[in-house]
Amino acid sequence: MNSHVDSIPNGPTVAEIISRIDLAIAMLSSGMRPPLIARHLHLPGHMLRRLWEQVNGRPAPRGQFPPDSTRLLTAPGATTEAVAWWSVYYRLGSDAGVNVHRAIDLTLLLRAHRQYRLLFPPKPDRGLSLQGTYFIARDIVTHTVEVRYCKSCRIHYLYHLQASLVSCPFCG
Ligand SMILES: [Zn+2]
Repeated sequence: MNSHVDSIPNGPTVAEIISRIDLAIAMLSSGMRPPLIARHLHLPGHMLRRLWEQVNGRPAPRGQFPPDSTRLLTAPGATTEAVAWWSVYYRLGSDAGVNVHRAIDLTLLLRAHRQYRLLFPPKPDRGLSLQGTYFIARDIVTHTVEVRYCKSCRIHYLYHLQASLVSCPFCG
């Protein structure tokens, strides 16, 4: 970012950059790691690492990200929490005119996670983190995880054959 960025034709305005930084800070304080945010918001990784340290009071963790969300989804209780989270995220997407099957929207992801947390307050042994919901949202976009509908329960649930996520978590 430089001070002339608002004068670049079709470049982001200063107001847009500030709103991206605001969103980044909210996501960093909810534990989402800098590289994932940098990629989506086109903000410099080194700046986000410094922001992480300031908001969380410790250095940003390093290391590999999981290849997909299946380990998260197969944790005890995770499938039902994923149903709740997806219903919130999908509805917010519909309201905002965003197809969450095709793209990840970080603003909606953050709002959906806050609403999901109100429905399912975090417990020490369970619950989806904001970053966890990012990986699930990404896997839905890439079709690694499918969204299927249960006619009996009238809910959408997440399907992944190799991870044995093959049936509705409520009626099995
Ligand atoms: Zn069912």
